[in-house]
Amino acid sequence: MAREQIVKVLIDGATSDLSFSYLLPDTYAVIPGHRVSVPLRNRRAIGTVTSIESVDTAELGYALKPILGVVAEDPFLTPGLLKLAEWISAFYLTPIETVIRSMLPKPSRGDEEKRKTTKYVELAGPVTPEILDTISARQQKQREALEILSEKGASRLTDLTDNMGVSRSSLKALEERGLVRVVDRIVNRDPLSEVEYVESGPLTLNAEQRVVLDQVFESSRRISNGEKSRPILLYGVTGSGKTEVYLQAIQKAIEEGKGAIVLVPEIALTPQTADRFKQRFAKIKDQVAILHSNLSEGERHDEWRKVLDQKARIVIGARSAIFSPVRNLGLIVVDEEHENSYKQDTSPRYQARDIAVVRGHLEGCPVLLGSATPSLESWQNVQSGKYELTTMRLRIDDRKLPLIRVIDMRNEGKKSQSGPTILSTRLRNLMEQRLANGEQTILFLNRRGFARNILCPECGYVANCRHCSTTMTLHRKEDRLICHICGFSQLPPSRCPECSSRSIVNAGYGTERVEEILRQVFTEARISRVDTDSMRKKNELRDTLNAFRAKKIDILLGTQMIAKGLHFPNVTLVGILNADVGLYIPDFRAGERTFQLLTQVAGRAGRGELEGEVVVQTYTPHHPSIQFARHHDFEGYAEYELALRRQFGHPPYSHLALVTSRSVHLERAEFSLKTLHARLKRHLPEGITMTDPLPSPLVKSHDQWRFQIVLKSVGARRLAGHLREVMKDLTFPEDVIITVDIDPYSMG
Ligand code: ADP
Ligand code: ZN
Ligand code: ZN
Repeated sequence: MAREQIVKVLIDGATSDLSFSYLLPDTYAVIPGHRVSVPLRNRRAIGTVTSIESVDTAELGYALKPILGVVAEDPFLTPGLLKLAEWISAFYLTPIETVIRSMLPKPSRGDEEKRKTTKYVELAGPVTPEILDTISARQQKQREALEILSEKGASRLTDLTDNMGVSRSSLKALEERGLVRVVDRIVNRDPLSEVEYVESGPLTLNAEQRVVLDQVFESSRRISNGEKSRPILLYGVTGSGKTEVYLQAIQKAIEEGKGAIVLVPEIALTPQTADRFKQRFAKIKDQVAILHSNLSEGERHDEWRKVLDQKARIVIGARSAIFSPVRNLGLIVVDEEHENSYKQDTSPRYQARDIAVVRGHLEGCPVLLGSATPSLESWQNVQSGKYELTTMRLRIDDRKLPLIRVIDMRNEGKKSQSGPTILSTRLRNLMEQRLANGEQTILFLNRRGFARNILCPECGYVANCRHCSTTMTLHRKEDRLICHICGFSQLPPSRCPECSSRSIVNAGYGTERVEEILRQVFTEARISRVDTDSMRKKNELRDTLNAFRAKKIDILLGTQMIAKGLHFPNVTLVGILNADVGLYIPDFRAGERTFQLLTQVAGRAGRGELEGEVVVQTYTPHHPSIQFARHHDFEGYAEYELALRRQFGHPPYSHLALVTSRSVHLERAEFSLKTLHARLKRHLPEGITMTDPLPSPLVKSHDQWRFQIVLKSVGARRLAGHLREVMKDLTFPEDVIITVDIDPYSMG
């Protein structure tokens, strides 16, 4: 009998679930989640340990090789994350290695973890008066350096040279005399480390907030007693004080020595949101990790390290923060749970809100999903009893929800002489009033650029991207046509490329054009525009929002970057310029999205002492999404929309799988998908339906042709199971890419 420890190692970069066994010599203390280096054929490979077992090696009948080494002292994945990775891999049909890769920041993958270091100067020993005496008067700077160092212990090399005026040669002299050492120290890049936060204590909750908080505590209590507990959906109107409830629930978790993860949509992860958390936890601000997309790779890695080292116990971040290696989780919050940005659109195509529920279940912690416009998926989960519902109907201090006026733009159009009508007379008048009163206005338009497209009225030519089947948007500042799908840009033609006509026109409008018009109409007003074009520089968004809060801006115009989570007490008017954008696209969620957007944007008005008003401009004033939003009637809308979804068997009454083939060769993309379709059809399990292979709505993107099949089934697992079974032994040409998206949010 020779019982030995064997580790299973999942090799990095494996497209299949490549996992091998190795001997684990006694000299290594390794547990699942550790990253190790192993021999693989003739090379050295890196991988993640997924399990360890004790095996009688004599019975194996073949020799195992030992691992070569350990990449980092601590395991990068917690046991909870390893289980979660398996779940995601199975549910979303993604190789587990791909899932694990998306859980780890880039610098932590590879041969060694890349940590940023900086040169520090430290004393080699205590500085005695005798030593100081040996330094001559001419070497004043050396003496100063020693004094600084004996006070601080160590100092950044650049601090000494750049800020204290100690020359490199002085330091060199000290080093040669053996008085100081220059060393590399690991530094953490915390972009907010310099910021001072004023602590904000917990507010006294109102009755509704109290009930919600107690419900979270009750869920936590039940879980610790081993009782069943369901995720909690908090349906709370905008401004009802949801964030305050999150803060206090987190506080409790921290007091109990546990950690918390708060997911917010990327777009809502504004500096303002981050500040709110940093202020509440000002005393322990280093225990708050914030993960947003503006961080450099290194900064992101440092934040992750802080969590892994259990220095940070509160994580606030977008989608991928759900994979933070927080141990002993006490709470997961998903704010704005209806947000589509929780769905990742590249592999693994997970939905972070759903993953939060799974992680809560696997690790035994309460999950709180909050929204003023819950997703119909979550609403249906309440109806079926899977989730628990809690409601906050009142705004803080009983502030009224804003009055919403719907303006029929079909009538406005008739009045105008030329070009598209962008501002209705009503909206313009209301804006003038606000300017006169010193109050602020937010204008919302979900489309950036100057003109939607340029077209020729003579022959019907439209400027399309040559790499995608979509129109190009005119950006006036750069004076270029830009494709919003692939980024390709070109000079706008001065005459029609087809018929040479000079009467080529700009059709439709984006934020850039609206800004120009606003400047013409409101010559005295201070106007700012917020979209991805105007907010390229670091801190530009933060600065603009701060200026707006300080009332240095009268009119803030923006895309969805300003739709969420912002809180400006002096805003009394919100204008939605074109509510129809997004309503007439071939997607069963189009209506739901429009309802959510209108409600969220409207929620920006009247958040202070003053009452708010909202103007919605639309060409389809009677559309249910607009009418229910106008009456602040989420429940009414949900009932209406769910009845439709049920009738058509759409989600949430079914799960979909979107199978797409892509290739630069049209025929190969189409043929491969047809082959797959035939195989899927052969033993189609009962309860699954399937469309024929069809061109995707965006049939060409980034030079690739796209075809798709949509499968539908009441059970998601059955769908994934059938697809896995069929695709297991099918191979496709190299230049064809097949992707499977379970519970897709974009229908191609
Ligand atoms: P929501 O997240 O639901 O939109 P917030 O949490 O942002 O709402 O709260 C709206 C405003 O009300 C914030 O300025 C917040 O500080 C304030 N607020 C929240 N709860 C209370 C409370 N219990 N007492 C006083 N003010 C509160
Ligand atoms: Zn033409
Ligand atoms: Zn393009």
